[in-house]
Amino acid sequence: MDSAPQVGRLLLVDDDAMLRMLAAESLRHAGFEVSEADCGEAGLRACQENEFDFDLLLLDVMMPGIDGYTVCATLRRDPRNKWLPIVMLTGLDDSDSIERAYAVGATDFVTKPINWTLLSHRVRYALRTSRAIAEVTRSQASLAQAQRQARMGNWQWSLSDARFSCSDELQRIFGDLELAGPGTPERFLGRVQATDKEAVDIARQALLRDGTAYRLSYAMQSQDGKLIEVLEQAQAVRNAAGRIVRIEGVTQDISERMQAKRRIQHLTMHDGLTGLANRQFFTELVKVELARARRTQRSCALLHLDLDHFKSINDAFGDTAGDRLLCEIAERLKSSVRASDLLALHPPMRPAETVARIDGDAFTVLLIDVCFANHAALVAERLLEAISRPLLFDGRELVLTAGIGIALFPRDADSVETLGRHAEQALYVAKRAGPAHCRFFDEDMNTAASAKLQMENELRHAIGNGELRLHFQPKVDAGSGRMSGAEALVRWQHPRLGLLAPGQFIALAEECGLIVALGDWVLAAAARHLKRWSAAGLDPVRISVNLASPSFLQDDIAEKLADAVHRTGVSPQQVVLELTESLLMVDAERTIVRLHNLRDRGFSLSLDDFGTGYSSLSYLQRFPIDELKIDRAFVTNVARGGKDAAIALSIIELGRQFGMRVVAEGIETREQADFLLAHGCAIQQGFLFSRPLALERFEAVLAAGGRFEGRQTPASAADRAETTL
Ligand code: C2E
Ligand code: CA
Ligand code: CA
Repeated sequence: MDSAPQVGRLLLVDDDAMLRMLAAESLRHAGFEVSEADCGEAGLRACQENEFDFDLLLLDVMMPGIDGYTVCATLRRDPRNKWLPIVMLTGLDDSDSIERAYAVGATDFVTKPINWTLLSHRVRYALRTSRAIAEVTRSQASLAQAQRQARMGNWQWSLSDARFSCSDELQRIFGDLELAGPGTPERFLGRVQATDKEAVDIARQALLRDGTAYRLSYAMQSQDGKLIEVLEQAQAVRNAAGRIVRIEGVTQDISERMQAKRRIQHLTMHDGLTGLANRQFFTELVKVELARARRTQRSCALLHLDLDHFKSINDAFGDTAGDRLLCEIAERLKSSVRASDLLALHPPMRPAETVARIDGDAFTVLLIDVCFANHAALVAERLLEAISRPLLFDGRELVLTAGIGIALFPRDADSVETLGRHAEQALYVAKRAGPAHCRFFDEDMNTAASAKLQMENELRHAIGNGELRLHFQPKVDAGSGRMSGAEALVRWQHPRLGLLAPGQFIALAEECGLIVALGDWVLAAAARHLKRWSAAGLDPVRISVNLASPSFLQDDIAEKLADAVHRTGVSPQQVVLELTESLLMVDAERTIVRLHNLRDRGFSLSLDDFGTGYSSLSYLQRFPIDELKIDRAFVTNVARGGKDAAIALSIIELGRQFGMRVVAEGIETREQADFLLAHGCAIQQGFLFSRPLALERFEAVLAAGGRFEGRQTPASAADRAETTL
């Protein structure tokens, strides 16, 4: 606001025409815009018509009709005129009428006869004051609005009369009108959350004592019991003598912001799918716990858990279903750990956060204050149990299993990274032991792990470098001694380690995702050999090829395999695909479709290692399978009768009923061969007839017409070399 003349729109209400003329003239001369009215009614009407847009009213007190007091009172009743300056023109120089003028809301008064020079100054002054008031009101309103938007309120506490006062918004934030009044800082402190009380008290004391300003966030109970988080800045106000007379501050409700921050933090620290801690958060937690364990000289155990075949399940059921399974597993892990009475959990760590999902189907669990290694094993057993409880899924029952590796702090490692790596190495060993195993880390694993890493790299190149070989093991009709087919078994001619058997690298190929490429190579190589043999005029036999589950689970598997075979100029009729039972049962319905596709293209299908899996009879009946291969495990003791013989015989019977050929593998003795032959299983494969043979030797057998006596002859030096790898 400055004093530069501003045009003002004035309304002059007086019944005296002469006075009106003179007054209007002098005011116009001073730069104002003047409208006139000759009575109270006309004045009110003019206000209305102008939509109350006058800046000031000059109002005669005594008029015929309604007088100036009434006009003034009427206008003031309308909130739009709350701040309208109304200057009364009064001929009555007595204090009564002046009192009365103020009582009805007049801003000022001018007595008649009017001093024309003074009049314009009075008008200008009244205008200036009213504008200043309007300005302050406006800024107060916008301050209140800003405070409301920022959920921020200001307060002050005066020391002289111990009075507390605060803005409306602060009252609103705390939902509490009792805040105002004497003694409030104590009552206020009573509402501060216990854990923050001390900090708030100390800050306040310092502020009162030596005027140290503070900025502090704390939580406080609102009237309705809600916890509100606030950010508060406060300072002291001193008088001229430098004594603190008042403290004042601004308090902002930051609950929402804090919640959002926590939500974001939670998201960055947790796995979005299961709500478990993620790898990053888990690592942080482990760091803290290891430091604590170091101080208190306690032990911790890190469990690294990984589901078996989860990728196959995911492929079979789809990602959404896979996600649901993972959530269920996460729940089970969480509740098993929580239920564990072996864990003395450190207070700030909630139980759920000792379990983390660190990767697709990999979870980690931290156990703290582990007194004995076998306590960790006990928890691991419990987790494995929890996971393998059957789970009802889309109306089907699924059984998942997992492997667990355990590393101990400080025994096996003294940093988060090494502890994690060692637990993972132990996991690999557990996995190799079969489903649902757990293993502790030991130093040998470390050595094995680096050797494995090297093997993995070498295997990656082996396929392209032509280091793989196929050996062939004949399938023989035990009655006639004629070869009816052969199984292609892969070998790796390792540049450093010599000829390796599949047991030494198939599992590795599965782990590092090379199994599909390896399978493709085997089928293509088998087809090439078939082509060559028929070109060379050799009697063709059907070749069986082992199909690993990741290969089988490819969407376009039937097309892909048929293409590969056709490309070599061979018919799928010459190929038998050996599948393992367990992989078919993961999702039987889809398996049936895939099997039909393969069969429709001409492949024969064989169920390998039959009897060891979990095939239900009802599915087996629906699987379009040509051949069942009795697993070696039942063959070994078959001639002695007993359980194994019973199983072998019922498989033979099953094959007969379902119209499937039955083959026995692992035949080593004449007794086994005779027993099985006598019971209707003529096609046999095993060392009794022949070990798997290198290409040239197998071709020699083919050329000789493929006859076997089935006498158990000692293996030739070359065969021994192949099988005692
Ligand atoms: P499998 O499919 O059950 O193959 C039969 C295995 O039993 C072969 O071992 C064979 O040498 C062995 N065997 C045959 N007759 C006898 C016997 O009378 N007594 C004994 N004790 N053993 C006998 P191999 O060649 O070491 O293969 C082991 C496993 O590796 C195979 O088991 C198969 O699961 C896998 N495998 C081999 N080649 C391939 C392949 O090309 N692809 C895939 N995915 N797996 C393969
Ligand atoms: Ca096989
Ligand atoms: Ca087998």
